[in-house]
Amino acid sequence: MSVAPAISRDAMIVVVGAGLAGLSAASCLLQAGFQHVKILEANEQVGGRVCTTKPFTENIIELGANWIHGQKGNPLFRIAKEHHLLSEDSSETSRDYFFKDGGKHLSVNLADQVVSLFKKLITKASDEELGRKYRDMNLGDYLDLSFAESPLAMSEDGPRIFEWCKRSECSDEAASSLFEVSASQISDYIDLDGDFFNSLGSRGYQAILDVLLKDVPSEIILTSKPVKRIQWDLNKISLGTKSRERSHPIKIICENEESFEADHVLVTVSLGVLKQHAGAMFEPALPKSKMDAIERLGFGTVDKIFLCFSERFWPEDCAGIQLVWDEGPEDKAVYGSQTEEDGWKKTWICGFDTVARHPTVLCGWITGREALHMETLQDSEVGNTCVKLLRSFTGWSVPDVSQVLISRWGHDPWVFGSYSFIPKGVNGVRRQKALAAALPLQNCLSRKPLQVLFAGEATHVNFYTTTHGAYLSGIREAQRLINHYSDKALCP
Ligand SMILES: Cc1cc2nc3c(=O)[nH]c(=O)nc-3n(C[C@H](O)[C@H](O)[C@H](O)COP(=O)(O)OP(=O)(O)OC[C@H]3O[C@@H](n4cnc5c(N)ncnc54)[C@H](O)[C@@H]3O)c2cc1C
Repeated sequence: MSVAPAISRDAMIVVVGAGLAGLSAASCLLQAGFQHVKILEANEQVGGRVCTTKPFTENIIELGANWIHGQKGNPLFRIAKEHHLLSEDSSETSRDYFFKDGGKHLSVNLADQVVSLFKKLITKASDEELGRKYRDMNLGDYLDLSFAESPLAMSEDGPRIFEWCKRSECSDEAASSLFEVSASQISDYIDLDGDFFNSLGSRGYQAILDVLLKDVPSEIILTSKPVKRIQWDLNKISLGTKSRERSHPIKIICENEESFEADHVLVTVSLGVLKQHAGAMFEPALPKSKMDAIERLGFGTVDKIFLCFSERFWPEDCAGIQLVWDEGPEDKAVYGSQTEEDGWKKTWICGFDTVARHPTVLCGWITGREALHMETLQDSEVGNTCVKLLRSFTGWSVPDVSQVLISRWGHDPWVFGSYSFIPKGVNGVRRQKALAAALPLQNCLSRKPLQVLFAGEATHVNFYTTTHGAYLSGIREAQRLINHYSDKALCP
């Protein structure tokens, strides 16, 4: 990393949000020699969508991010490895159990074949540009057409298992349905080499945050400070009306009316928060290209439902209990006929996974509109419904649940969702670049450059949705400022 010259030491920089993007940016700026960096975080604690808790025992549960995706070139994998934070457990002998409603166990062999075909089709869409036939399609239609060409489509349960695969993929895409996701553009997302699912050890993702926090003094992080307005370009506004130029072009105002002046503000709030508040948050308003990007990029909800039982009722080699519905929401006809109200009732969960270090806990996954509806229900109602589903699908003797813990990312006022995706018909790279662009857009002599910068997972064209995408976006924007001051120092 290049060290910024002395000129940067006086620059006042405010980072909004202390998730991975905000923390990596602050840490990078401090290491480069910037002395006036502050982080304003709305929540009582830092981490954002990294949220390690201990609700049941002394062992951790991750309500947000769980895995580090990919190894080679992944800075978080490198940090985890260097600090010995990776899990040493591996449960390679365990496997998923697939059930149809009514307690019928599905053939492991058939499930393996369908899952493997599904993975191949997704890899095809991710690795190469899709042929003309599929390019403008949504991901659901592309998968359906491709699957129809396979003999597995003729088997009795193949199509149902394929639909389960699609539903499960919705969790990765954070979408209500794959019929809403672009098919061709999942190739812009880059899978880093090495295992895709790398688990952290007993301190979970919190341990990664702790490493970053070592470089960020606690006194510069101000928690419980929700920002409500960012006034920028104040020099321009005051020019002509007052003879004296303001020394700082930006004023950041919190909900409690406390305010902070700055030369640069780095906004790392989620795309969900921008969708809700960007219209009122910025003064002057954000340019049209930025507002269009905020509107058109997708930001969906994925939630986890943790069920804690008094004893384990599943076999020891079980990695997950997967529910294969007769008629699910990824069936085109069902998708087309569903209203938002009734969707969740029949088809809201695609499976329950076992949870590391918690031998009697299962984690259910729910996405999209169904997740948003589930979030409005009482924990006990959700827990009881899950137990009914487990009983009717497995036919096993399932005890009542003793504790329930649910994430509610869609209604979290500091996130409003889980992560971003590229909807069908949207040019993802173009919109992500517009989202990441610093303001003012043109380097006009009368306006101070790089006043408002943007980072966060949704601004990364190749690693959006991920923790490493968030981390790298923070470094990108810190580096932009470092370069800015380095270039300045070079000019006479
Ligand atoms: C359920 C779930 C599972 C996931 N699983 C994985 C996984 O296994 N692997 C993976 O790589 N990724 C995963 N992710 C995604 C990953 O967690 C995120 O991409 C990443 O943490 C985003 O970091 P960020 O800094 O961009 O945003 P955030 O973490 O959202 O940080 C933004 C911060 O801004 C704060 N903020 C918001 N509004 C304001 C305001 N007005 N004023 C001040 N502060 C504000 C927020 O409180 C927050 O702390 C998962 C996410 C979820 C929700």
